[in-house]
Amino acid sequence: MNILLIFEHYFEAKPFLENEKIKKIKSKNFFKFNNNDVEYYLFINHGKGYLSLLNKLYKLNDEYSFNMMINMGICGSLNKNYRIGEIFSIKRFINVDLNNNKILNPPILSSLFLEKNSKLITLNYIQEGNKKNWRYYGELLDLEGYFIAFFSKKNKIPFLSIKVISDYNKNIKNNLDKSVIKNLYNYFKKELSFIGRIAEYSYFFEIVKRLGIPLKYSKNIIQLNNYFKKKDLSFTERSQIYNDIRIKFGNSIKNYFEKREKQIIKNNKKKGFLFIEKKIRNKKKYIDYFNNYDFIEIANYLDYFQYSNKDYRNIIVANKKGNVLKKKPDNYGKEGFSHYSITNGYNCPFNCSYCYLQGWLRSSDIVIFDNVSYIWKKIKLFLDENKKEKAIFYFGDFFDALVYEDLTQSIDFFSKKLKDYNNKYMEFRTKATVKNLNIKNIQNNIIIGLSFSTRHVIKEYEMYTSSLKERIESLKYLNRNNISTSIHIDPIIYYKGFEEDYSKLVERIFKNITDDNLFSISIGSLRLTKKTYKSIKRNKNNAAILKNLEFDSGMYRYPKKIRERIYKKLKMVINKKLKNNKFYICMDEILYE
Ligand code: SF4
Repeated sequence: MNILLIFEHYFEAKPFLENEKIKKIKSKNFFKFNNNDVEYYLFINHGKGYLSLLNKLYKLNDEYSFNMMINMGICGSLNKNYRIGEIFSIKRFINVDLNNNKILNPPILSSLFLEKNSKLITLNYIQEGNKKNWRYYGELLDLEGYFIAFFSKKNKIPFLSIKVISDYNKNIKNNLDKSVIKNLYNYFKKELSFIGRIAEYSYFFEIVKRLGIPLKYSKNIIQLNNYFKKKDLSFTERSQIYNDIRIKFGNSIKNYFEKREKQIIKNNKKKGFLFIEKKIRNKKKYIDYFNNYDFIEIANYLDYFQYSNKDYRNIIVANKKGNVLKKKPDNYGKEGFSHYSITNGYNCPFNCSYCYLQGWLRSSDIVIFDNVSYIWKKIKLFLDENKKEKAIFYFGDFFDALVYEDLTQSIDFFSKKLKDYNNKYMEFRTKATVKNLNIKNIQNNIIIGLSFSTRHVIKEYEMYTSSLKERIESLKYLNRNNISTSIHIDPIIYYKGFEEDYSKLVERIFKNITDDNLFSISIGSLRLTKKTYKSIKRNKNNAAILKNLEFDSGMYRYPKKIRERIYKKLKMVINKKLKNNKFYICMDEILYE
């Protein structure tokens, strides 16, 4: 992180030289110091004027490639209401010949400025006086600011200019108050202590530039920066958010997040109760994990798992009773296997817009079944009765399989149990991040199923799941540890440019997994039962997902033409990468030759 402080005169830099642990780098004009763990370079032009300054900046930047520049110094004021010693940041620079009323160089707007800001006129030489019409160009005066702004613009280096008023531009020689410079140093120490850090945030300068907001809001800017980073948003997606913030949220990042927060509350982030059945032995681990829920001990979860609360969801920890296995439809999954869903929980905190779990059960509360030994007992009964059947058991149909894996450790448990069953597999399917998964005892017949979507789909319809970047990281982690992995590009969602995005996604996936670790790869387009379709339609927030769907073969799907188009395209891309037959189209007869 290289930040350059630029001073025109020695006396302007003096408090820095006297109070900081300065290291001389070159002669008498270039130094280095550390403030708040940030390295600053300090350049003094010794009053040599803008030509010498520009020449020096080009040379220094060639050598040090600055991430940010800050000009600090005195200025005159044409506004008598401004006080001597008062500090301003500069929002606009202009180069003017005041004596001849001539603009020499057009205005440059600064992308970085503080809440208290003003317009600066840079003169080529001192022009004393205070004519009324001069204020048309600006209120503050100096001899270098414009040229540094010009240099920063040309070299795309974020630039901040901070000026302290030393005079009113009359009889400067006698009236200039050099003592004000200590105000500037104090200001740097007190008010600008955060400034060095901002260059560490990859989107900080972009956000400031696009939204044109003062650095005073740096906390909000950092929040947006972190959101962009987490979601791994493309330039176009970020641009859309900038437009939204400007148009729908009064150019306020805070409003944007608060409104989103309301959305999140609607979608389950407001905490409810943690109901735990009395018979559950290790309650503490759940109470600790969901520590901001109100814990209540209950007799039977079915007394509570009755209806949906619109504002929040409760968490229920219970013992499963009855069936745990359910056969999947015939056209489901990889050929040569039979396929079964395992029930180890209900509902999912991720709330994807298209999820069939919406409205599938009367309650949307999240249920975690703690009695895994019982679940295994039921599976084992089936295994013993169907020894020859090649089967895959899926965790994740009623509940994201790994969203609470750090709590439940289900992979470890089932992996040990399934160890000796060579023709039986278990797949744990997830949209959560698995790069920290406990894989110590994982067997070859345990498969981690990663769902992949394009960035656009994740942002629009899977907004609480892991980002594409995180999913790729998960894939890398599994591949590095030789874990059998299945990839599901499902549901494919139609939008303008979807073919290209999905093709790129496939390419990206294959860059991060070797054939040996790939168990299967499936694709499937969005399909909804009548019940799910109706339930989504009732929810205005999610209804956009229903666009272009039509009723076909018992389900709402995209028209055949759209499905064929994307299947053909992806099949072609995938087949180029695959050595053997690990590919299938899920639950769609077309193109399934
Ligand atoms: S992650 Fe899966 S189970 Fe969870 S909401 Fe999304 S689609 Fe449904």
